Amino acid sequence: MRYKFCSNCGAQLPLTIYPFTAQTCTRCGHTHYHNSRPCAGGLIVRDGRVLLVKRAVEPFKDCWDLPGGFLEAGEHPRDGMLREIREETGLDVRVLGFLGAYIDRYHFQDEEFFTLSSYYVVEPIGGELRAQDDVNAFAWFALDALPDAIAFEHPHAVLRDLREWMKRDF
Ligand SMILES: [Zn+2]
Repeated sequence: MRYKFCSNCGAQLPLTIYPFTAQTCTRCGHTHYHNSRPCAGGLIVRDGRVLLVKRAVEPFKDCWDLPGGFLEAGEHPRDGMLREIREETGLDVRVLGFLGAYIDRYHFQDEEFFTLSSYYVVEPIGGELRAQDDVNAFAWFALDALPDAIAFEHPHAVLRDLREWMKRDF
């Protein structure tokens, strides 16, 4: 995303060609950085299958997605992942391992930025599966029979890595 005005002095900022380049104010010299936004998500696994959620909201409405979302300020990715899973699925889960960190681009309406998502492999230990928040359906998928309509780019890499992780650690 690009900022239009300086947050320090209010002057108009120079427009950069690449939307993620830092913008420095020509009046006061203040630099506005465009960092990746931190997210966290969970691969909920049971009997060799993974739980995907169907998005009820744009972008990628009605596509399958991994449960997760944006972190709050100061929130550890692990805590954010547990919170998002509880909000979206109603499940309490136990962490089995950290899968990895993934970069993606989020582009919706006039917003465009990078995301940096931490993913954990987890298993359900309680709660009750129920659609809520920005999710309208769930399904358990075998890792060799995933749906075609998957939201965003990075979940393809995440699910590929999960397949390897399951062979190795499960
Ligand atoms: Zn300024």
